[in-house]
Amino acid sequence: MTNPQRKPYIAANWKMNLDRTRVLDLVKILKARLGDGEDREVAVFPPALFLADVAAVSQGSPIGLGAQNMHWEEEGAYTGEISAPMLRGIGVERVLIGHSERRHLFFEKDEWMGRKLRAALSHSILPILCVGETLEERKSGQMEAVLTRQLSTGLEWTKAEELSRVTVAYEPVWAIGTGEVATPEQAGEAHAMIRAWLRGQFGEVPAENCRILYGGSVKPSNVASLMSVPQVDGVLVGGASLKAETFLPIVEFDG
Ligand code: PEP
Repeated sequence: MTNPQRKPYIAANWKMNLDRTRVLDLVKILKARLGDGEDREVAVFPPALFLADVAAVSQGSPIGLGAQNMHWEEEGAYTGEISAPMLRGIGVERVLIGHSERRHLFFEKDEWMGRKLRAALSHSILPILCVGETLEERKSGQMEAVLTRQLSTGLEWTKAEELSRVTVAYEPVWAIGTGEVATPEQAGEAHAMIRAWLRGQFGEVPAENCRILYGGSVKPSNVASLMSVPQVDGVLVGGASLKAETFLPIVEFDG
């Protein structure tokens, strides 16, 4: 971390895991352990089915609540989708956009992300735009081109003055759920690249206001070294966020 203005952000992506009881138990444990949220921001992204319950249980705590995906339209014939006004209506104020599983397993297109981001911001939902290269793309020297394409399409409809409400998550696809974590050098290089792109596109001040998280096999044992990397403003955690015994030490990392 380099900029004290950017509060460390720890986000838990629970994907299609846990049942209702385990989700609510985990939220209760977090609620009891989190302080006032002064020095770090913690948010959970449970399966959509449990969002309303989590909103009720987390009330009165600083725990942020987000959806794992959403559609850009407000309503319509989009079977299986949920919209920004629907999320706002039940107290959801964050959303993940362009997670690599949405891009690679469900073939979501780059240009959709820009529309989703626009819709989120227009409805006062804080988006996390996920970007990251596959191993093949990294090995063939395409990392910068991939990140640039995902950033420019994802932020196509975002204005400079909105960037402080946007978070970018750098999640190398080869590190997600694999146990393989980017080295601090690799994370640092990618984060610096993303910050430089933001600066070129939106200007110095807006770029400084945007938080950039690292995601990919974050664990209690590597969180502090990742968080010590300049430009790493937080972490997006999958597997290790599913249990209190591995998520709490991440939330409470010494930084
Ligand atoms: C993720 O899904 O965003 C993620 C980073 O998963 P994991 O921590 O399990 O690699």
